[in-house]
Amino acid sequence: MKLDTSELDNFIDEEAIWDIVNRNAVQDPVRIRDILDKAGEAKGLDLAEAACLLQVEDPELNEAIADAARRIKHAIYGNRIVLFAPLYVTNECSNRCVYCGFKETNTELIRRTLTSEELKREVAVLEDLGHKRLLLVYGEHPKFGADWIAETVRTVYETVSEKSGEIRRVNINCAPLDVEGFRTLHEVGIGTYQCFQETYHTKTYADLHPTGHKKHFLWRLHAMHRAMEAGIDDVGMGALLGLYDYRFDTIALLAHAAELESRFGVGPHTLSFPRLEPALNAELAFNPPHALTDAQFKRLVAVLRLAVPFTGLILSTREGRAMRRELLDLGVSQLSAGSRTYPGAYTDPEYDRPDVQQFCVGDNRSLDEVIREIVQHGYIPSWCTACYRLGRTGEEFMKLAKNGFIQEFCRPNALLTFNEYLQDYASHATRELAEPFVRAEVANGPEKGRQVLMERLSRIEQGERDLYF
Ligand code: SAM
Ligand code: SF4
Repeated sequence: MKLDTSELDNFIDEEAIWDIVNRNAVQDPVRIRDILDKAGEAKGLDLAEAACLLQVEDPELNEAIADAARRIKHAIYGNRIVLFAPLYVTNECSNRCVYCGFKETNTELIRRTLTSEELKREVAVLEDLGHKRLLLVYGEHPKFGADWIAETVRTVYETVSEKSGEIRRVNINCAPLDVEGFRTLHEVGIGTYQCFQETYHTKTYADLHPTGHKKHFLWRLHAMHRAMEAGIDDVGMGALLGLYDYRFDTIALLAHAAELESRFGVGPHTLSFPRLEPALNAELAFNPPHALTDAQFKRLVAVLRLAVPFTGLILSTREGRAMRRELLDLGVSQLSAGSRTYPGAYTDPEYDRPDVQQFCVGDNRSLDEVIREIVQHGYIPSWCTACYRLGRTGEEFMKLAKNGFIQEFCRPNALLTFNEYLQDYASHATRELAEPFVRAEVANGPEKGRQVLMERLSRIEQGERDLYF
């Protein structure tokens, strides 16, 4: 059945969301334990249950929530973590999002749009560091329509660096397009289409997005419907935390996910929960009107892990090192690393300064340093793109994920891609640390498939690349 997106309304009923938040503010330990028991079976949570856990203040119950999230994370995702880098293609923007350094009124920001040659150079630098998955990021400007964005995606896929690096999955974070525009992106082979609603509270949204195309709340709210209608199976959603009450925006985000699931049979592939960070000439970002404490933020991530156990949770370098490490255990399944948030900043040191970035980055370490810490923490870094390339996306992926597929396929694929990284890109220190780690992971992993995995790992050591299950 074809979906007529022009007939969609605001399915986020604000009164109903507030009602759910308020009715579940009372803390009944028996109910909380019951909810955690249900969450432990990886069945997810309804909105009322999520709202209840989100507001738990008791330290012991909070620890029980964190514990449940760690167990679900481990049971479903094991100890692998997917890595990617953002690549900013243009910071030209005709919107005036009050909190963003790229807003049109920020005349101090040097505007830059990468040419095809500059884009290739940025990609080659990221490839030479070992990246295989990129998130392309764009300001919104009438100059840059779907065809132009598609061309940049094509350029990225076609760029192969000297060290035999290639980008195997290009995800996109750009302003919402119409169905035709999304179809153009789908045809050029994007992975996930990502777009954050920022806040689901319409009055706050209107205040913070006064002009430009982005002021149309519903156009943005229906973006994922249009993307899915156009055949993009994997969509990534999020809320920018700090703009409005985090309890409202978290429950609304889950309601948005539930709406997609009921309409398309599959919810979002990933969720993001960026916290507002200081940005050039964006006063509001220095003093978020609804800042969350670290404790509230960690609980939010744990609750998302329990509420949508099979949905990827993405963490950017907005957060600092210690927080990133903790959230890894609580539920995050994808991390960006070594990020720069200015077009050209990977190749041109002139643009690698904190004052020109879109927002302040909290973790400035290189990819190799991040990897070393991940391994020390017992995780396998992964650049696997097998599912996307074998058509295991959307509903198909979710079906497999619910049947233990992640442990059976994703884990060996993580080890294969990590071994490629160790052969081609790792520093001496990382290799010394990681080689025994990989051997131990193979020896201590499931016996089923071990022989084939060992054989493929040694084929990689002999020079073969891009092997996956
Ligand atoms: N221009 C497109 C849009 O607005 O959807 C995509 C690119 S925009 C750079 C990507 C995201 O950055 C936004 O959706 C917003 O959530 C986030 N962002 C903007 N300003 C930020 C800030 N000061 N701190 C943290 N994240 C911010
Ligand atoms: Fe432009 Fe996006 Fe920044 Fe808004 S958030 S000013 S649309 S780049």
